[in-house]
Amino acid sequence: SNSLGPEQTHCGPALQQAEYIASFGVDFDTPKYFEDRLRIGLIHARIELPVHLYLGAYSKMQTLLQQAIFNSSLSENSEMAAKCFGTTTKIILLDVSLALDSYTHKAVNRLTESVHNLESAKDNLANQLMHDGLTGVLSLAYILDVLKKKPAQTKRNPDLTFSLAMLDIDSFKQINDTYGHQVGDDALRQFCEAIQSNIREQDYFGRYGGEEFLLLINDSDASAAYHLVERLRMLTHDRKFMIQDIPIHFTVSIGISHVTPKDKVGTLIQRTDRALYRAKASGRNRTESALNIGD
Ligand code: GH3
Ligand code: MG
Ligand code: MG
Repeated sequence: SNSLGPEQTHCGPALQQAEYIASFGVDFDTPKYFEDRLRIGLIHARIELPVHLYLGAYSKMQTLLQQAIFNSSLSENSEMAAKCFGTTTKIILLDVSLALDSYTHKAVNRLTESVHNLESAKDNLANQLMHDGLTGVLSLAYILDVLKKKPAQTKRNPDLTFSLAMLDIDSFKQINDTYGHQVGDDALRQFCEAIQSNIREQDYFGRYGGEEFLLLINDSDASAAYHLVERLRMLTHDRKFMIQDIPIHFTVSIGISHVTPKDKVGTLIQRTDRALYRAKASGRNRTESALNIGD
């Protein structure tokens, strides 16, 4: 016989030992048998019943069932008793393997969840490293990373030209001194929003530090890049920033360099910085281009 116990209908989650014995091996070749066993296993896994206790209970169960066979009339027929023994062992092994499957499933789920959590923590960290905390524009580390790769790309493909601009808000200290640091912070945020929404998708805008910013202008010749930053300078000049209900007006000075295949990040930034210095020295609110490497 396939079944060692009486037919039973109830196979709920709170399957008691007696009910378990009653259902032992009943219709073991049906999906329902597997589902019920797996569900019970999952409940035990969820309440974190130690797996060795679970296995111990099965071992005890097997001993009891075998004793029952010995003590029954079956023991008089040794061939029958041996068959019963074999079937009991097979069913016990089936139930144990289903229970272990549930535990494995739970463990895999837990690992999958923790991998997802780690991945999202990693994404958050990467995102934080990529962006400046105050303004949300790209971080210096990120911009430098992009810059480091650029000259090599230009060397490989001379059509991939780009320019680097350094923007420094004029007399920013005065804004802080007049309205307070918080207003200064908001001014930086609003300035960044204004610039960010007026550059193209392929350009990279990031914070160099303080009130200084870097703009990497991709795929454009020196003259187009110059005109782009001039437009940014003028829109800053023309704009009245409303910061905490205070209308504030400020300007920006810009230095710009066109990249050459010989450039290294250090030389490029240095050249751009010198151009910015000239823009400041010649009266602010203006753009100065670096003309060549020695400039
Ligand atoms: P210049 O036209 O020569 O650039 O003058 P400046 O006042 O802009 O330049 P300076 O280097 O003298 O001062 C920069 C000021 O920017 C001083 C500093 O307190 C302010 N600053 C730098 N970072 C921040 C910031 O994150 N928030 C605020 N509110 N102010 C900042
Ligand atoms: Mg400065
Ligand atoms: Mg400044």
